[in-house]
Amino acid sequence: MDYRDTPAEAKFRLELREWFKHNIPANWRDITSIEGQRVLQKSWHQALYAGGYMGLNWPKEYGGQGLEASYDAILNDEASRADSPRLPAMVNYLGRAIFTYGTEEQKQQFLPTLLSGEVQWCQGFSEPGAGSDLASLRTRAERDGQTYVVNGQKMWTSGALFADWCLLLARTDSSVAKHKGISCLLTPLNAPGITVQPIVLHSGDPETAEVFFDDVRIPESQRIGSEGEGWRIAMTTVSYERGASDTGSISTLRRQLHELEEIAQARGLLADPATRQKLAKAYVDIQVLSLNVAQQLSMRLAGRAPGPEGSVGKLLWSRAAQYTMHVALDILGADALNGHAPRWLAEYFTSRPVSVYGGSSQIQKNILARMLDMPR
Ligand SMILES: Cc1cc2nc3c(=O)[nH]c(=O)nc-3n(C[C@H](O)[C@H](O)[C@H](O)COP(=O)(O)OP(=O)(O)OC[C@H]3O[C@@H](n4cnc5c(N)ncnc54)[C@H](O)[C@@H]3O)c2cc1C
Repeated sequence: MDYRDTPAEAKFRLELREWFKHNIPANWRDITSIEGQRVLQKSWHQALYAGGYMGLNWPKEYGGQGLEASYDAILNDEASRADSPRLPAMVNYLGRAIFTYGTEEQKQQFLPTLLSGEVQWCQGFSEPGAGSDLASLRTRAERDGQTYVVNGQKMWTSGALFADWCLLLARTDSSVAKHKGISCLLTPLNAPGITVQPIVLHSGDPETAEVFFDDVRIPESQRIGSEGEGWRIAMTTVSYERGASDTGSISTLRRQLHELEEIAQARGLLADPATRQKLAKAYVDIQVLSLNVAQQLSMRLAGRAPGPEGSVGKLLWSRAAQYTMHVALDILGADALNGHAPRWLAEYFTSRPVSVYGGSSQIQKNILARMLDMPR
């Protein structure tokens, strides 16, 4: 494993760094209205596309650039260093579902606008009673000729408030084993019968939503894969959710830790051995995460598809993010709560669901226990 940039990657990194300098919208963190955030998300996605930075690892035949996963890692790293607005990470894993399982017609119809940002997407998998146990999902899609009629509810759908379309899992057959009766439908969120209710997180971010389906009619031509193949599609999608994008969280954590060291110094806390120990532990956690991500990336570069080892990365990421934010609260003390450091409190809250979304820590441990052949 050699984690250094190749000459071509180093050139790409420098160009990208320069591009970020000139293209990150000024004062984007001050945009708090939902409408403002909607505009920001779409325009930032379109700017990245125009700059040539979307679909780096997609095959060329679908509008991508056919580059190695390391280029996506560099994009995430530099975006985070430059404090850019959130990258449209979903494009990579939702796009993979469509180009792996979609028909040629579906690929032509959906991939170009997904990549360019003209059409925004979300992932409608989880439900109130089906998060960790996703295969228990109860949203139904019943056939009426060439159409599915969808009824049910999705929960925690990130980006649904700003999305135009949804990669939706629904049950098309209740008579077979639960993971065999699920299908995947490409669903326009403006279809009659769909209601999107925002869930504003503690950080103040309206990142997720509940989505209700009431007799929503979806043509059969918008199903990807065959009927009952939804579980396989969902597993492909989630296995690509982690990976190169984790590099961005590492840069963010390093930036946060650096700022915390400065705050600790300004407050005279660096003389305190307990504070120094906490900062050192956060540093080690981030360093361990970064080595794990580098190892996973090198396996991807060697042609190995992501597997259960991604669970180790997810656990390390949750640990590093949540521990670093605990240290932040310890260093800031009452200032974290009395309105003097609102950003840090928001970041603390942002770190809490890291151990829940994309599969909770307990579920990651179950996956690893199975891999290691441990008793149930
Ligand atoms: C901010 C945020 C964004 C999200 N974005 C999306 C999205 O875009 N699309 C989407 O489809 N979903 C999304 N989710 C949903 C996420 O995937 C689920 O929240 C997650 O899978 C956990 O499911 P749950 O909330 O139903 O909790 P539950 O499954 O009810 O779990 C509750 C607790 O029980 C534990 N538990 C459950 N089963 C077991 C077990 N077998 N062994 C040990 N412990 C267990 C869990 O670890 C957890 O601590 C998001 C969630 C959050 C918080």
